[in-house]
Amino acid sequence: MQTPQDIRPEPAAPGDSGSRPLLITMHPSDNVAIVANDGGLAAGTLIEGTRPLVLRERVPQGHKVCLVAIAAGQPVRRYNVTIGFALQDIEAGRWVHERLLRMPDARGLDNLPIANAARAELPPLTGRTFEGYRNPDGSVGTRNILAITQTVQCVAGVTEFAVRRIKEELLPRYPHVDDVVALEHGYGCGVAIDAPEAIIPIRTLRHLSLNPNFGGEVMVVSLGCEKLQPERLLPEGSIPIRDDRQAEPLDVVCLQDEAHVGFMDMVQSIMRQAKMHLERLNARRRETVPASELVVGVQCGGSDAFSGVTANPAVGHCADLLVRAGATVMFSETTEVRDGIDQLTARAATPEVAQAMIREMAWYDAYLQRGSVDRSANTTPGNKKGGLSNIVEKAMGSIIKSGTAPISGVLAPGEKLSQRGLIYAATPASDFICGTLQLAAGMNLHIFTTGRGTPYGLAACPVVKVATRSDLARRWHDLMDINAGRIADGELSIEALGQEMFDYLLDVASGRKKTWAEQWKLHNALVLFNPAPIT
Ligand code: CA
Repeated sequence: MQTPQDIRPEPAAPGDSGSRPLLITMHPSDNVAIVANDGGLAAGTLIEGTRPLVLRERVPQGHKVCLVAIAAGQPVRRYNVTIGFALQDIEAGRWVHERLLRMPDARGLDNLPIANAARAELPPLTGRTFEGYRNPDGSVGTRNILAITQTVQCVAGVTEFAVRRIKEELLPRYPHVDDVVALEHGYGCGVAIDAPEAIIPIRTLRHLSLNPNFGGEVMVVSLGCEKLQPERLLPEGSIPIRDDRQAEPLDVVCLQDEAHVGFMDMVQSIMRQAKMHLERLNARRRETVPASELVVGVQCGGSDAFSGVTANPAVGHCADLLVRAGATVMFSETTEVRDGIDQLTARAATPEVAQAMIREMAWYDAYLQRGSVDRSANTTPGNKKGGLSNIVEKAMGSIIKSGTAPISGVLAPGEKLSQRGLIYAATPASDFICGTLQLAAGMNLHIFTTGRGTPYGLAACPVVKVATRSDLARRWHDLMDINAGRIADGELSIEALGQEMFDYLLDVASGRKKTWAEQWKLHNALVLFNPAPIT
């Protein structure tokens, strides 16, 4: 397993990286390194060090330089892993871009190492707390939000209209409620609802309604004739009962109900029901809870070659701190971990966890195959422009977000957490789909790293965005919460930034700090993962 400790940026004087040529090597046996300097390095640049090197051509920032001559057919190594085979002889000092590489085949799912990795020493971290909202089901919210569940897309416009009025007319009267959020989605009708894989979007919607940031208050807006009937979405027993109350019937506003005369009548019904839930939510107060109540989803988007050097390793260190504090950390993005499956099965806490991971990978391989693609369809033009040649290189930088703890559980898409520790939540890597599935699993805080830059945000939970480069952090100073570029600049170690991130998470979780996405109310749509047919 590649650990953050193996990363050895060549030392630089603070603030000096703009002028002095700086290469970052991930492992002593690598034969390529990446250029750290803003703007890249020019042809003829002399790079001093134990192995002096002259660049034979211009190499952009984040892209790879060949450190020693590589013969055609030989492996190109980064993170101590073969990320490709040279398609021609490559001289030292040349730019190693994707056109010079053949991508290795995906590792088969047979004969994988099972739960045999050496265990990292992770002593418990005690005494850390945050201020959160305790929920009837034992979970803890970091925000106090009224969510309005919808059974079908048909009701989205009416719900949105009602939510606008609730925010304008009701919310100011309930100062302890942070927000009102409509859980809009494209599902509910026009779908093969009895197809076996329809279970994924249905349980995703069910579990989204029960996210810890919604305080156990569930209200539903339904059309009436849709396939996904309210009782199918939230069957009896799916909503935890509060200690102080009897079981209540599901709170549903049905637009086709004959009692509704006109649009405004429907809006009034939604507002009347919302008022009851707002009153209950408004009576809640934050209380001091242990850091173990955090449920942090980690994700990356708009990655570049720095993602796996700065931001993701720091997230990995932060993940270790969280796991040591007894919290839950979810990592996801199946196509971005597929090439590291052997590292992950080895890190599984038990053989059962390793088998569950293999099950999820096999399911996803088959899903991609049905669409005549494989995991290489993941990488984007922006990834490649940022220096990531292929999915193998991207995956090695992505897995580092999971830190070094043993993997204690696996969730299939849309499932809800039932244990703590480091969890592999199988999801597509698509930012919105991954975020939606992590929310359904029970995420109450999200860390999101980006190198190319994305203004990503979620309405249901705070999203802490981490820039991989100082250049991005400077330009997007009012969108990026944390600058991991300070690692490449030589200002801060990976461990120091991971610690800073951990402290920042506790502040955000407590409501003492707001993320930029919260400040500007930047929210991406909830996007369901639906591998089942549409009719
Ligand atoms: Ca992603």
